[in-house]
Amino acid sequence: MSSVIVRDVSLNFGAVEVLKSLNLDVAEGEFIVLLGPSGCGKSTLLNCIAGLLDVSEGQIFIKGKNVTWEEPKDRGIGMVFQSYALYPQMTVEGNLSFGLKNAGLPKDEIAKRVARAAEILQIQPLLQRKPAALSGGQRQRVAIGRALVRDVDVFLFDEPLSNLDAKLRSELRVEIKRLHQKLANTMIYVTHDQIEALTLADRIAVMKGGVIQQLDGPQAIYNRPVNRFVAGFIGSPG
Ligand code: ADP
Ligand code: MG
Repeated sequence: MSSVIVRDVSLNFGAVEVLKSLNLDVAEGEFIVLLGPSGCGKSTLLNCIAGLLDVSEGQIFIKGKNVTWEEPKDRGIGMVFQSYALYPQMTVEGNLSFGLKNAGLPKDEIAKRVARAAEILQIQPLLQRKPAALSGGQRQRVAIGRALVRDVDVFLFDEPLSNLDAKLRSELRVEIKRLHQKLANTMIYVTHDQIEALTLADRIAVMKGGVIQQLDGPQAIYNRPVNRFVAGFIGSPG
């Protein structure tokens, strides 16, 4: 069964066509990486799936339901950004529970979900700290935790590791991979980093100019790029 379907989606900013009749079909539980150079439309596509941007044309389906005009909060998705977007005045625990309180969940259910997320992401000792007292890697764990507590079907990541140094990047890469294996939910992950794409993805969508140039497994992309752009961008000999 498909988890996310992007059907003939175009998006224009004024006269500029940023996504061009784009199609993507993500299977249930699949880890898809959107890979491409800066400005190719990766974030725009992710924001359309999340409902943070309205498409100009086309449709988005999540779990078989047409969500093209649904609010972000009703789409069953959780999003993790490059910039963490944590509430600075709240503790880690406050950041994790805020959305659940707003949604009116009972206290014990909130406590249970926060404890589980903290355990999975190994941030239990940080629960009473404020974001300013955390490292970049710890902040990003909390940001992932905020999606995790919401118990969503689909995780969307927009360059979540770009602000981290190389060592933390590789640590969190392993962490995200482990999270995917544990949760087995659908993940759509935006990056311009070839290593991240090759190590994380079940399939990679290589984008250029608002179009998916190739959608294939990492090995196929590397060994059998469909054109010079893909070959050059992925760094394969092809
Ligand atoms: P990526 O995430 O791949 O770096 P984006 O999706 O952010 O690319 O941007 C794709 C293109 O759309 C870029 O050329 C960018 O300048 C343009 N763009 C993005 N957001 C806006 C906006 N709000 N208004 C006008 N143009 C935009
Ligand atoms: Mg972007």
